[in-house]
Amino acid sequence: MPELPDVEMLKRSFDATSLHRPIAEVDVRSDAIVERGSAGELAGGLRGRSFEATRRHGKRLFAGLDEGGALALHFGMTGSLRSFESTDDEPRHTRLLLRFERGSHLALVMPRKLGKVGLVDDVDAFLEEQRLGPDALSEAFDDAVFDAALAGRRGSVKAALMNQRLMAGIGNVYSDEILFQAGLHPRTEVPALDADSRRRLFDTLRWVLCTAVDHGADPAELEGSFLLAHRSEGASCPRCDGAIRRIEVSGRGVYYCPACQT
Ligand SMILES: [Zn+2]
Repeated sequence: MPELPDVEMLKRSFDATSLHRPIAEVDVRSDAIVERGSAGELAGGLRGRSFEATRRHGKRLFAGLDEGGALALHFGMTGSLRSFESTDDEPRHTRLLLRFERGSHLALVMPRKLGKVGLVDDVDAFLEEQRLGPDALSEAFDDAVFDAALAGRRGSVKAALMNQRLMAGIGNVYSDEILFQAGLHPRTEVPALDADSRRRLFDTLRWVLCTAVDHGADPAELEGSFLLAHRSEGASCPRCDGAIRRIEVSGRGVYYCPACQT
């Protein structure tokens, strides 16, 4: 699933290709992905307008429109964006296709129809309504906010990191990475962390997300130090060369190194 660093890359590619171009045609290929209104309303709300700026919050992307409001994008398990010129290059599994004046296209591609698109009037009101916590890379999310988010919580650290109401942007893959980089066993419980280890965990979280963004969220670029490129049973740990293992924690498949994470 696209997580914060992946969606940041989608944001950058959106910014580079799809801003300030009037939208000539809107083709909604799947009604199932449209939320907050019908496919017809979505098309009508986009046609003739242009995107002015984007904003990412956690795993969500918002593309602000010239006359107010925004297109809200949630990429589900497999969603991504593709920009292309010729219609011959349209990717498979395109669920929403925008054609801009002067010819370029933007496709929302989702092999599985688990993502959502829709129009929102006010992004901040929408985030509040969805009860999303602060974006995990925002300035508003500092170590004091992190500490407060964990205070009094039970359950695993992994579940807390993935709880979008506490902090937005981290899913299964990056919570594994943060625990790996912090040397914490995936079954570590929140109450087992003292103030110092919470502070270290926060610093690790920020470092992991920033480093991933700086490397294009590309596993190959992060191979030498990140678990990301070694997510399979028996793969070699990038730190100690031991075998990576997979276990279930809170119903999720978790990869970790039994030697490095105790
Ligand atoms: Zn290891």
